[in-house]
Amino acid sequence: MDYQKILDTIESEMSYRDVRGKVAAYIPELAKVDPKKFGMHVYCGDQQHFCFGDSEENFSVQSIAKVFSLSMAMILMGEDLWDRVDVEPSGDPFNSLTQLEYEQGVPRNPFINAGALVISDILVDQLENPKEELLSFVRKITDDESIDFDKAVAASEKATGYRNIALVNYMKALGNIKCDVEPIVDFYFHLCSLSMSCKSLAKAFMLYANKGVILETGEQVLSATTVKRINALMQTCGFYDEAGEFSFEVGLPGKSGVGGGIVAIHPHPDRYSVAVWSPILNEKGNSELGMKALEKFTSLTGISVF
Ligand code: GLU
Repeated sequence: MDYQKILDTIESEMSYRDVRGKVAAYIPELAKVDPKKFGMHVYCGDQQHFCFGDSEENFSVQSIAKVFSLSMAMILMGEDLWDRVDVEPSGDPFNSLTQLEYEQGVPRNPFINAGALVISDILVDQLENPKEELLSFVRKITDDESIDFDKAVAASEKATGYRNIALVNYMKALGNIKCDVEPIVDFYFHLCSLSMSCKSLAKAFMLYANKGVILETGEQVLSATTVKRINALMQTCGFYDEAGEFSFEVGLPGKSGVGGGIVAIHPHPDRYSVAVWSPILNEKGNSELGMKALEKFTSLTGISVF
């Protein structure tokens, strides 16, 4: 498979000029991002890398980081986790409060904000230094010690985070939050502020393409069952209320964030991970050009999970 030729075709045929959406503007830090940015990185099971454009520039990964916090919570709790958070697509916006009332404070899945906040509660409850441990986890699976939080983005999330704070308070009232509200949202806002590139995301997500084993070192970080569950959740819940459309167009498990990043994987044996970044979002909050680029990628490679 000539991955570089496929990426070159995508780069030459697709542009931010072809899309009509807008860069995320709910916090000033994200609104500042250059809408012209476009990069893509593919990492294969034989340790070859292919890329184009702004693939090495860091951006705010936002909800993509929810895959890392979920992985850490599964290491700590195993299958008991599913008493605290469900595994169904929500069909509602990612920050919805309404479903919680009739589901007794148990969020529909770990990738909507309510679910990621319950996961944050678990990590804050069980870990001595949850933010440091999150960084250690991500640095380990990427073999990149420079990965860090973007302090300005975290502060901006905090300054405008009324809805997330309301979600934690509401779930605490319904009995599904153990810790104090402040440390939970502090962890969550830092999680969303994680700054990574397409290259580091592709490297991190090879873990989920490779049955939980770090490709370069052979270390088993997540069990094969954990990876199966996380990949299933990415497939069914990874794209806000557009997971069906992403499955339909692209056909890979993946996760998006409102920073305009998308990362997707193809599991064993044709293992690869692919990350794309274009900050212009469609009305559902997913990168508009990113989705189109991935649709073209799986059409040209002919490799999707379907
Ligand atoms: N930081 C955002 C929020 O909690 C979520 C970002 C995302 O969905 O990518 O409102």
